[in-house]
Amino acid sequence: MKICRRFKFEAAHQLPYHDGKCRRLHGHSYRMELMFSGPVQPLQADNPQSGFVADFGRLDRIIRTELIDRYLDHYALDESVPGLPYSSAELLSAWIMAWCMSHLDGRPELGAIRSETVRVWETVNAWAEADRQDAQPFLSAVAAVTAGGVSET
Ligand SMILES: [Zn+2]
Repeated sequence: MKICRRFKFEAAHQLPYHDGKCRRLHGHSYRMELMFSGPVQPLQADNPQSGFVADFGRLDRIIRTELIDRYLDHYALDESVPGLPYSSAELLSAWIMAWCMSHLDGRPELGAIRSETVRVWETVNAWAEADRQDAQPFLSAVAAVTAGGVSET
């Protein structure tokens, strides 16, 4: 089954190769959706994640403290996201996807989740979505700066 969690963060960025106003330093109220797949856990009185793929509260805490608060919220993304060469919504979503694959997949307290897609909204009308394939170029950069191994694809 699939589960999805939405988040928001505020950040600044700059796209120096753009031929319009995105060259200038500016900010967005970003939204993102992280989608995961995995088996529903069996119903057991001693398992608080019974009937869930993974507990949303646990996912939420990990993603907020280890991803959003550390690299994204109220930062200039061009400086705060290690190994991100350009802060377009496309490349940012691919970097976040790589982070999810190396940080969340295989983590015992999250059941058996597999990161599937990351969708990043720059504005209410524009988003980019990355899958596991899109994340490949960022896996080594993410692994180099953060704890935890890189998952197989
Ligand atoms: Zn922008």
